[in-house]
Amino acid sequence: MTPFNFIFLTFALCVKPANAEMQSAHPIMSQEYEKKVDYSLLKDDKLRIYFCGTGNPQLTMQDIRKPACLAILTKDDFFVIDAGEGTSQTLAALGLPYASIDKAFMTHWHSDHMAGLAALINNTWKDGRKTPFLVYGPYGVEQVVNGLNQAYSLDNLYRGINSSNVLDLSIGGGVPKLIDQKEVPTKVYEKGNIELSAFVVDHAPVYPAVGYSLKYKDCHIVISGDTKVVETLADASKSADVLINEALSDAIIEESIAKFKAKPDVPEATEQLDISITEDLESYHSGTYALAKMAEKAKVKKLFLTHLVPAIFNTTEDKARFTKNMDQYYKGPITVVDDGDSLVIESDGKGCKVQYISSQKLSESKS
Ligand SMILES: [Zn+2]
Ligand SMILES: [Zn+2]
Repeated sequence: MTPFNFIFLTFALCVKPANAEMQSAHPIMSQEYEKKVDYSLLKDDKLRIYFCGTGNPQLTMQDIRKPACLAILTKDDFFVIDAGEGTSQTLAALGLPYASIDKAFMTHWHSDHMAGLAALINNTWKDGRKTPFLVYGPYGVEQVVNGLNQAYSLDNLYRGINSSNVLDLSIGGGVPKLIDQKEVPTKVYEKGNIELSAFVVDHAPVYPAVGYSLKYKDCHIVISGDTKVVETLADASKSADVLINEALSDAIIEESIAKFKAKPDVPEATEQLDISITEDLESYHSGTYALAKMAEKAKVKKLFLTHLVPAIFNTTEDKARFTKNMDQYYKGPITVVDDGDSLVIESDGKGCKVQYISSQKLSESKS
C-alpha cells in the first residue's frame, strides 16, 4: 500500500457512517433493483436450490450455460456453492435477493468455479450486505481470498468514500474459512434447518477438491463438485433424495470418436491425440455411465446433471443425446438442468418432496 492509499484508507475508516444501519449506496438505483427482487423468498419455509451455472470453462457456450454456480436459499440463509464467472449477474437476473448472500462454499480452485467470487463479494457489499462475507473452502482458501481482497482493495476504498461512508469498509472483502478435508462427510456449517458437510472427492491433479452433503429437515441432498466417480461420492450419496452431479457424456464422446475415426484424411497421430484428450477428461470428471451405475447402487432417488461436458444446447434432443444409455444402469429420474432452473424442497415429517422448476417452462408460461 502506498502512503497515498494509506492516508485515504485511514480517512475513510475513521469517519463513521451517519446511520449505523447499512443501506444502499445508491438509493435511486436501488429502487429499480427493489422492484425486481422477490424478498418473500427469504420468509418462506422451503429449501430452494437455483442452478445459476450449469456449464464448464468452454467460453463459446457460456451465453447458454455459465460456469459452475449453485445457490441455496431458505428463510434462514442464502449462500452459494461455487461462484463461476457471471454468478452475480445470473442471480440478479433471476430476481433473487442476492445482496443477502454472505457465504460461499467452494469445491476447489479451478477458475470456472471461482472467477465470479470476488464480484459476488463486491456486489453484495455495495448493494447492501450487512454482515461479513465468509468463504469456506479447502486448502488454498486463504491464498485465494486474501489475493482477491488485495485486488479489490482500491475499488472498496473508492466506493467507500463515494458512498458518503454508508458502505462499511471492514466488510468489503471476504473472510477465508478453511474446512476439514475428510473422506467421510464432516460438518462444516449449521444454521436453522440446514446442515452442510464436506467430503473429499477425486479431481486429480486438482487437490484438494470436495463435494458437499446438505441435510434439510428430512431431506438429503448431495452436491458432487468436480470429480470422477469415486467411493467417497458413492458413500456420501447413499439413499440421497437428490444428487446434483457434474457429468461428462459418454454417449456424446462415443459419437464424436466414431465420427472422427470415420474421416479418411485424419492422420493417425491426430486421432491418438484426440482420444488421449478424451481419456484425460474421463480421468477427472464423472462419466455418465459410471455415474448412472453408482446412483443405482447408492439408491439415489433423483439425479440432476450439471457442469455439463460438453456444454450442450438446452434442447430436448441434445439432452437425450447427453444422457443416452444411462437408463440402462439407473432406474430413477435423470434431469439435465439448465441455467435458471430450480428445485423447491419441502419436508412435512413424512418424507422429502422435491419439485423441479424448469426456467424454460416458466418463461413460456409467462409469455
Ligand atoms: Zn474442476
Ligand atoms: Zn469445473
